[in-house]
Amino acid sequence: MASVEKDVVIIGGGPAGMAASIWCSDLGLSNIVLERDDSTGGQLKKIFQPVRNYPGIREIDSRKLADEFAEQAKALGGDLRIDSSAASIDPEALRVELASGEWIKAKAVVLATGVRRRRLDLHGETELSGLLESGAKQAAETTNARVVVVGGGDAAFENALILAKFASEVTLVHHSSHFRARAEFLEPVRQNPKVKIIENAVVTDLFGSDGKLQAVGLEDPSGVQRIETDFLLVRTGVMPNSELVEGIVTRDAKGYVIIDANCETSAPMIFAIGDVAAPSAPTIATAVGHAAISTKVIRSRISRT
Ligand SMILES: Cc1cc2nc3c(=O)[nH]c(=O)nc-3n(C[C@H](O)[C@H](O)[C@H](O)COP(=O)(O)OP(=O)(O)OC[C@H]3O[C@@H](n4cnc5c(N)ncnc54)[C@H](O)[C@@H]3O)c2cc1C
Repeated sequence: MASVEKDVVIIGGGPAGMAASIWCSDLGLSNIVLERDDSTGGQLKKIFQPVRNYPGIREIDSRKLADEFAEQAKALGGDLRIDSSAASIDPEALRVELASGEWIKAKAVVLATGVRRRRLDLHGETELSGLLESGAKQAAETTNARVVVVGGGDAAFENALILAKFASEVTLVHHSSHFRARAEFLEPVRQNPKVKIIENAVVTDLFGSDGKLQAVGLEDPSGVQRIETDFLLVRTGVMPNSELVEGIVTRDAKGYVIIDANCETSAPMIFAIGDVAAPSAPTIATAVGHAAISTKVIRSRISRT
């Protein structure tokens, strides 16, 4: 299989990966960005409200911001590869193998693989229709229908409010009686007559007929129950895309990669940046900051060799 040699191989084409490419090129480091999706941008492709907290830009559509990142990276000489999933890393040789079998040899590896939404991991979750990807985008599809939302944070509550504008009824299911959602979402949901909250309950089953979701099974301290529904939206938080470095670098109990002040992992010359290493501040600004730190450190290390 073909091989490529670069100073830096960057895994993930979200804000962190694209910023790393921009900084590498600016510092004279040849670089390649591997993105498994069919476009770069990462989570920026999933934000439906304008971004208003990225310093220097008062307000921007997140897809436009993603395009700006990509165009700047390409203009500076970065090699952005879409549909290119990194399958494994050889930490000794600093080689990254792609799912296609091609491999990239580098002097440093930057992991910028971000996070993904948690799933319920129940039978039918990927096969049945009626599983919503986005409450905001698909709300109109739920007109006069029944919806179950699972989760207890901002995303679950905000989506329950959006969906209640269209659906006939929304049932919000949470595994505890403590909700992480901010008061600005919590109170309106509690007062919305169309939303029913079920606390201390876990979704245990998805029931369908002819490939279409029909009901969810719940288990709570008093027993089991079945809620008839047409749609289900799961908003139970995110988990890091760090399986690629399992057994190679140190991760915390939730799988986030542990990094030092240089954004370096426990494996020499393997760096981790952005959400995959930032459980406490998963933001575009953190991703971009990590990118600057890691690439400056890589530049100084490579200069010395
Ligand atoms: C609804 C929503 C609203 C948000 N609002 C804001 C906001 O207002 N302000 C703000 O600062 N932040 C916001 N964020 C958070 C922000 O989007 C993230 O912090 C940021 O995208 C993190 O960038 P990243 O590059 O670390 O990860 P991601 O954006 O998750 O990108 C990671 C990329 O890596 C790719 N990847 C994963 N594994 C592999 C592999 N093995 N091979 C190749 N590619 C791989 C993924 O496909 C993905 O494209 C929001 C997020 C969401 C979901």
